[in-house]
Amino acid sequence: MEDLQAEVVVIGSGMGGATAALALARRGVDVLLLERGARLPRELENWSPRAVFVQRRYKAADIWYDGRGRPFAPGVHYVVGGNTKVYGASLPRLRESDFGAVEHHEGTSPAWPFSYADLEPYYAEAERVYKVHGTTGEDPTEPWRSAPYPHPPLEHEPYVADLAERLRGVGAHPSSNAMGVDRGPAGTCIRCGTCDGFPCRVGAKSDAETCAVDPALAEGLRLATGALVRRIVPDATGRRVDHLVVESPSGQGVVRGGRFVLSAGAVNSAALLLASRTDSHPAGLANSSGQVGRNFMMHNNAHIAAVDVDRLNDVTFQKTLSVNDWYADGGDDHPLGTMQLIGRVDEVMMKSWAKAVPLALLRQVARRSVEWLVMAEDLPDRQNRVTVDARGRITTARVARGRSTHRALHRRAKTLLRAAGYDAVFTQWFDIAMNSHQCGTAVAGLDPATSVLDPWCKAHDLDNLWVVDASFFPSSAAMNPALTIAAQALRVVAESDLAS
Ligand SMILES: Cc1cc2nc3c(=O)[nH]c(=O)nc-3n(C[C@H](O)[C@H](O)[C@H](O)COP(=O)(O)OP(=O)(O)OC[C@H]3O[C@@H](n4cnc5c(N)ncnc54)[C@H](O)[C@@H]3O)c2cc1C
Repeated sequence: MEDLQAEVVVIGSGMGGATAALALARRGVDVLLLERGARLPRELENWSPRAVFVQRRYKAADIWYDGRGRPFAPGVHYVVGGNTKVYGASLPRLRESDFGAVEHHEGTSPAWPFSYADLEPYYAEAERVYKVHGTTGEDPTEPWRSAPYPHPPLEHEPYVADLAERLRGVGAHPSSNAMGVDRGPAGTCIRCGTCDGFPCRVGAKSDAETCAVDPALAEGLRLATGALVRRIVPDATGRRVDHLVVESPSGQGVVRGGRFVLSAGAVNSAALLLASRTDSHPAGLANSSGQVGRNFMMHNNAHIAAVDVDRLNDVTFQKTLSVNDWYADGGDDHPLGTMQLIGRVDEVMMKSWAKAVPLALLRQVARRSVEWLVMAEDLPDRQNRVTVDARGRITTARVARGRSTHRALHRRAKTLLRAAGYDAVFTQWFDIAMNSHQCGTAVAGLDPATSVLDPWCKAHDLDNLWVVDASFFPSSAAMNPALTIAAQALRVVAESDLAS
């Protein structure tokens, strides 16, 4: 690989890296974006449940290990756009209370080193960049906003509209999901049934490639694909990153820059910092606090399928409704979390985890079920951590905290759905491999002794390294993370020295 140089070098083209690259390029900064993967091809298999969920066509081939040394295939995607290429494009803001300390039954969710008000203008900007559709006035927990959603909410299909009525009838307050798709009179979204978990074959999903990388290329960004960063190397002072060691199909090379942005995803960013240890940074780069890799979180999540045996579910685009009634308070002054409709789950997708159940039976279930994500906060714990051994093997050790909250939310969800007319609820609890909401491995904070990054995501230990992926999250909250990652990346570019 030829040696490269840029004013700012960004590692990783997912939500954080691509959004930062776009904001930098729009300011006229010379940016080089290094991505280990290639562009995900547009092809028939994009929409095939078998190719995507059974053959795992777009997943990374990596094997990681859990805390007991058991191997698993992680839910990560090494392509331009990162995990957003397959994400569900559900793009809510965190709630205002998420930025303060919140008492849970199993501990305290720590305060962030900046407030909702600090991030609010960048949420608004991120919603424009990622074409978010939504509405206000329905969700009892929605935070205040300085501008309306840039696009109207996605319409519910009749089955979902009826479901919303049923939920209202039993006292709940269902609200429209905030969704990032190119829908509208001139939009390209066709409201297919393969948005959530699949790549978009028509390029209508607001992923980081479509909404950030491609527009940034038009502003002068340089993108190098197949560029796997192996080490981040500091200079002799130990205070500045000097260069990156990068591996590509054509060999190893060096990339130099004035400033560096790490955004390889929460697990890979921590692994890269730890693997970049030197004499000046013996515990790993930017790790004088010992916090790099610790506080690994991924939400306490479950998918549930609620079955009404008397009614077929004929919805195509299902992901338009949420229930946040117990997000901040489940009735005893403690938060529970959110439940959100997800994309339709067919029998092939169900079979990928309900392996013992005959396909024909799963087909009957799938035709009569409506599927939800039931998501509660995963509390940070220093023992839950990412480590990397001398051979580069990654371990994510985790004993989930907040499980009693998650179980309580799950019970509430089941009771609500039964009251709304459903006969049975089936549950798939997420395991360590379903780490799509990974975060927290290089937390932002005010105190260099207890955090890795400052409130603008610059490493306390280095003068020219920023980390803008989900690593910076001091807490996971209980909302989908991607819009918050994008908003903070925009804030970092606008308010720190990164662009100057
Ligand atoms: C199936 C699925 C559904 C999801 N649905 C939603 C949703 O509806 N809403 C939501 O908010 N979130 C959702 N998420 C989560 C969301 O996609 C992530 O939170 C978000 O993409 C994380 O952004 P990031 O910048 O931290 O990392 P990523 O987006 O994962 O980007 C990391 C990038 O770094 C690259 N990289 C890694 N290591 C290196 C290296 N050493 N050198 C060079 N490049 C490297 C990777 O290839 C990748 O492109 C979903 C995720 C999945 C998998």
